Amino acid sequence: MRTNTPFEEALQEELAELEQKSLHRTLRIVESAQGPEINLRHKTHLNFSSNDYLGLANHPRLIEAAQNALKYYGTGSGAARLICGNLDVHSALDSALAQFKDTEAALTFSTGYAAAVGTIPAVVGRGDTVILDKLAHASLIDGARLSGARLRAFPHNNIAYLKKVLRQEKNSGRILIVTESVFSMDGDIGKLEDIVEVKEKLGGWLMVDEAHATGMYGRNRRGMVEQLGLSKKVEIQMGTLSKALGSSGGYIAGCKTLIDILINKARSFIYSTATSPTVAAASLAAVLLVSGAEGEERRSALWDNIHYLAERLPARWSRSDPLQSPIFPLMIGDEAEALQIAQQLEKKGFLVPAIRYPTVAHQQARLRLTLSSKHEKNQIDELLKHLTNS
Ligand SMILES: *Cc1c(COP(=O)(O)O)cnc(C)c1O
Repeated sequence: MRTNTPFEEALQEELAELEQKSLHRTLRIVESAQGPEINLRHKTHLNFSSNDYLGLANHPRLIEAAQNALKYYGTGSGAARLICGNLDVHSALDSALAQFKDTEAALTFSTGYAAAVGTIPAVVGRGDTVILDKLAHASLIDGARLSGARLRAFPHNNIAYLKKVLRQEKNSGRILIVTESVFSMDGDIGKLEDIVEVKEKLGGWLMVDEAHATGMYGRNRRGMVEQLGLSKKVEIQMGTLSKALGSSGGYIAGCKTLIDILINKARSFIYSTATSPTVAAASLAAVLLVSGAEGEERRSALWDNIHYLAERLPARWSRSDPLQSPIFPLMIGDEAEALQIAQQLEKKGFLVPAIRYPTVAHQQARLRLTLSSKHEKNQIDELLKHLTNS
């Protein structure tokens, strides 16, 4: 047997430490398409962990669009969009998104992560300030760090604290406030109306990440910004095509000038090959589908499931307003305990993974339960039976 190199030993020390703190992660292999039922280790599991909220990840219309694009364009887009990779399907997707979001323009990136780390540094830099909600997604934190701007944070949804920070940072360059509309690990809603009010009074621009809201809120399912009537007051609307839209890719929607700046300055856009045309075509089909009658049907089926579960969750996991989103954090606290409960559930055929540090704070471990429009009531009942006993 070969002995470990010093390189391996150094890394193994770190892994051992993660293991000892119940923070080590491994990949599980899914042997089927996405859906309420997935196969793990040749066994069917009920899946309560996906962000495919509207069940579009293997919808026939998205598959057909991808297949047609595959036949016409092949697999690769050849280059970055500013070279020769900007196929008509990419521009059509940008336009469809602008229309869907009712903004002047939109721009798609290869992922939501790329949209965040490209956009923040394109609008703020050294001498400026980014103010983030404490629970903002890692991609937003990383984008803020990359920008070189001063980083400030406010406790989750604490508007009084945000005001204080805004007053302190006045006269110090540009100010960008960054938050989410639906928080990814807590499933609660950002106080967007209050934030808009304070930034209109005290100055600052607002970027809202709608990763978990696009397709699910608002009259036209544009997101929470639409639902709250704030479209004209949010400078930068971000989202992803990889959650409710069932495809892959991120987007920014806003004024033409913003999109022009991004095309010229966002490094994750400029220096990265355009998304595969098959993916762009599936995304385009998803945007059109969500915009239309089937989008509404699926949205309402999803909310029906959310209501059903919210009314039946064990009391210890009920939250002040359980009807906020399809994301239910079942708080456990201790990492080892969360991991153990998740493993027990998995053995019984339910996938509700433990979410641990650093995705959430230390001792804030939880099971993150998510619903889709495709879950049947009896599948939710099955889960509830086992949750009550665990
Ligand atoms: C998932 C997610 C992203 C990243 O989007 P991807 O398309 O998966 O890269 C960004 N922000 C939030 C809040 C998310 O949950």
